[in-house]
Amino acid sequence: PTETTLEYDAVVVGGGPAGATVATLVSLQGHRVLLLEKERFPRYQIGESLLPSTVHGVCRLLGVTEELERAGFTIKRGGTFRWGSNPEPWTFAFAISPKFAGEGATAYQVERMKFDQILLDNARAKGVEVREECSVLDVVEEDGRVAGVRFTDQDGVRHTVRSRHVVDASGHKSRIHGKVGGKRHYSEYFRNIALFGYFLGGKRMPPPNQGNILAAAFDSGWFWYIPLTDELTSVGAVLRHEELERAQGDREQALLSLIDDCPLIAEYLAGARLVDSGPYGEIRVRKDYSYSKESFWRPGMVLVGDAACFIDPVFSSGVHLATYSALMAARSINTALRDPAAEQAAFEEYEARYRHEYALFHDFLVAFYDMHQDEESYFWKAKRVTHHTATEIEAFVELVGGGASNETALIDAGSYIERRDFRELTEIVESPVLALGEDRNLLQASLARSVVKAGARIQVQAALGENVDEVLPMREGGLVPSLDGMHWTAPAS
Ligand code: FAD
Repeated sequence: PTETTLEYDAVVVGGGPAGATVATLVSLQGHRVLLLEKERFPRYQIGESLLPSTVHGVCRLLGVTEELERAGFTIKRGGTFRWGSNPEPWTFAFAISPKFAGEGATAYQVERMKFDQILLDNARAKGVEVREECSVLDVVEEDGRVAGVRFTDQDGVRHTVRSRHVVDASGHKSRIHGKVGGKRHYSEYFRNIALFGYFLGGKRMPPPNQGNILAAAFDSGWFWYIPLTDELTSVGAVLRHEELERAQGDREQALLSLIDDCPLIAEYLAGARLVDSGPYGEIRVRKDYSYSKESFWRPGMVLVGDAACFIDPVFSSGVHLATYSALMAARSINTALRDPAAEQAAFEEYEARYRHEYALFHDFLVAFYDMHQDEESYFWKAKRVTHHTATEIEAFVELVGGGASNETALIDAGSYIERRDFRELTEIVESPVLALGEDRNLLQASLARSVVKAGARIQVQAALGENVDEVLPMREGGLVPSLDGMHWTAPAS
């Protein structure tokens, strides 16, 4: 049976970090957004080590900072690597980069079942209509444009939804990414296989690095060791393609024998117990995960997060790229909904920015997988790919913290929030139906605080024109973020 046709400004397929982010940021602009998720949350997902750009940038814009704090996730100050020609482990802290100053110098290690649930619930709270157990089957096309999707709900009822924009945020398993045209190109270089499980009782690094990700190279590849809670550790072996055989057969035996081959991880897991029940009780394998789509959009449809591309787990860039691309796509959708004539330029900007960020990680990681170099040479490479003018180590930390894009939203999200609050409060105070009495005083006190914070910035903006943060576009003829950070606009001349 087929149900009625519904109409939205945007339909988002998939409720992972990319989908929840883009849906929330479009809904916050007052647009009607439907998000369709195949599973019922909480659902398992890999990708547990986050970057400061996600935690203090995008998550702050989404308004989930306090909820993340309440969730009690492990605080990650940086990474510890037994990698390259140096036989000793070396550690970097996000605090090395001035971009992640103060509280911004941390990220979280998250259980994705909890993290993704927080983002999806937040999308609901911010006005997105979220429907779980709804599987998107195909897109609707009309006059050369994607104009909606077809899906089945939890009762097997088929629906058609019409929408100005369709966002494919359905991850690596996307069944509709082909509709933007072009192929998914699998990397010739990154052809690794990951085999991963969970342990209770693994060792922790000494403070303050107890929450760091530990990455340890060994003959067949490398291990990640991610402390999710005091007790629970995510452990995964990333094997070179030639080692495929080692991941086949009995997965438990395979994982345990790989651990035996890597002395540092074996030492950390001595006395630990492999989890054997519940969602963490399964040993999983992932391969063919390094790819990029030929096109990221076509009129009416855009790919975000893993639906568009993914590189490699080593620097935990997956959720960063997912949430960064979602923010970029939200700007493009908001811009096109306000002014349909701006659609082409807005989505070209999206694709250029997402490709640029992806390429930074990609090019750096190619050099990082050369195990004959030491860390100084990796830092130098980071400086080269980012064209950074600071020291090598700062360039490296900025890149692997997700801060290389010079995107204000990622390193100073507060400035957009201050401006939004300022605008909203100004509208309320100037409104003729303003609540009277004490409320007015409260509002004015609140406005006064906001004015002090945002005032200086806004005065500069008044003097310089629309854009003060990013006067220069990323590329010739490109656009820059608008004052509210939620649209694209032409750069000030
Ligand atoms: P997803 O998180 O995959 O979400 C997609 C959603 O779409 C899912 O909930 C799915 O159920 C839903 N969906 C799928 N099909 C449909 C459909 N037809 N209809 C409706 N809904 C649908 N990243 C990190 O940041 N840190 C790490 O430490 C890290 N480690 C990794 C290790 C490995 C081995 C791999 C392979 C990846 C790792 N990643 C890591 C990457 C990370 O897993 C992804 O980049 C991230 O989850 C992408 O988010 P997303 O929102 O694009 O997709």
